[in-house]
Amino acid sequence: MNVYCDNAATTRMSKTAVEAMLPFLYDNFGNPSSLYSIGQRAKEALEAARADVATVINAKPGEIYFTSGGSEADNQAILSAAAQGEKKGKKHIISTAFEHHAVLHTLNALKKRGFEITLLDVHSDGVVTPEQVANAIREDTCLVTIMYANNEIGTIQPIKQIGEICRSKKVLFHTDAVQAAGHVPIDVEDLNVDMLSMSAHKFHGPKGTGALYARKGVILTSLINGGAQENRKRAGTENVAGIVSMAAALKEAAGQIGENGKKPISLRNRLIAGLGEIPYGELNGDADRRLPGNVSFCCEGIEGESLLLMLDDKGISASSGSACTSGSLDPSHVLLAIGRPHEVAHGSLRLTLDADTTEEEIDYVIASVKDVVSYLRNMSPLWRDLVNGKRQHVFAK
Ligand SMILES: *Cc1c(COP(=O)(O)O)cnc(C)c1O
Repeated sequence: MNVYCDNAATTRMSKTAVEAMLPFLYDNFGNPSSLYSIGQRAKEALEAARADVATVINAKPGEIYFTSGGSEADNQAILSAAAQGEKKGKKHIISTAFEHHAVLHTLNALKKRGFEITLLDVHSDGVVTPEQVANAIREDTCLVTIMYANNEIGTIQPIKQIGEICRSKKVLFHTDAVQAAGHVPIDVEDLNVDMLSMSAHKFHGPKGTGALYARKGVILTSLINGGAQENRKRAGTENVAGIVSMAAALKEAAGQIGENGKKPISLRNRLIAGLGEIPYGELNGDADRRLPGNVSFCCEGIEGESLLLMLDDKGISASSGSACTSGSLDPSHVLLAIGRPHEVAHGSLRLTLDADTTEEEIDYVIASVKDVVSYLRNMSPLWRDLVNGKRQHVFAK
C-alpha cells in the first residue's frame, strides 16, 4: 500500500487547480502587461485571482501581493517592517523559537544589521501565550512575527489575541500562515493581523506560487527590482498560470474546511490513539489545538531517519521533522523549543494527512509504525540501556 503522509511538506495539486492552470499555459499565454487582447485576458484572470484570494481571507484585492511562495512572502513582510522600523530608530523584533527557517534566517540577517531579536520560548504544549507577547513589547519594537500553525508539530497559536495586543500597542503584526491557509478558516479583520503569508503548494496548489497579504497603509519594500508589477512591490512578469491555479486551490480548500475538515480530524485522532499505544512515546504539542491533519510523535530509543527509511520500504512517505535531511545532525529546533531532550527529539515522526486519506490507510500506518519501532528498538544499544535501567526513561510508559 502506498500512503502519502507528508502533506505539511507539500501536497498533490487538486484536479481543480491543475485544470485552472492549463488555459494560461497555452491559449491565454499573454503577458498581463501587454495591451493586446491575449495580454489583457491574462491581466483579467490575474485580477480575478487576486479578488478570489482576497475574498477567502476577508481582505481587499489591493492588499494581496503575489510572490514566488511562502519563503518570499515571509522575507518581504519582515524586511519591510524592519525598513520602516529602522527609519524611526525602532530596531527590535519579537518572534518565537519555533518559526520556519524562512522567518528565523531572515531575523538572523537583521541581527547582523544591528536589530535586536527576542525569540519567545514555546510552552511544552507547542503554544506561545498573548501575555508573553505583551511582556516582550518595548518602545522600540517594530514588528511581531508569529506563525499561525507550526509546520512540524501543527500547533495553532492564539493569533487573534496576539493581534489585539499588537494593535493596542501600535506594533505591526505579521503571521506566517503557510500551514494554516486552506486548512483552518482565516479572516484577517477578525485576526487583527497586518501581514500574512501563504503558499499554494501547501493547499493543493502549485509549487513556486504564494501571496503576501499586507493591510492597506503597510509600506512594503520591494525585494525584486524591475518592472511595475504587483503595484511596484514585486517586479517580474507574473506567474499567471500559477496564480490562477493558487486562487482556485484556495477557494476549493477553504470551501471544504467545514465538511471535509471533519474527516482528517477524526482520522488524525484515530492515528494519535493508535500511535499512543506505543510504549515510551508521546505526542508533540497539544492534542486539540492543532491542525486537522497533523500528528507529530517522539519515540524513545529510535532514530527518526531509520524509521523513515523503513516506513518508505512499506510505501509510507513521512517526515521526521528533524533537520537531519539537510545534512545536519542537530535535532529539530522546533522539538528542542518545546523542551524535548536531544535524544528524544532524534526519534521524531511527523505524519500529515489530507482529506483523501482513508481509515484503511491510517490503520496500515499505525501497524507499520508499531512494527518498525519495535524492530529498531530491538537493535538499539540505547534502547537496551533503557530496558536494563542504565538510562532513565524520559516518557512514562
Ligand atoms: C512551507 C512553509 C514555508 C515556505 O513556503 P514555500 O512556499 O515552500 O517557500 C514557510 N513557512 C511555513 C510554516 C511553511 O510550512
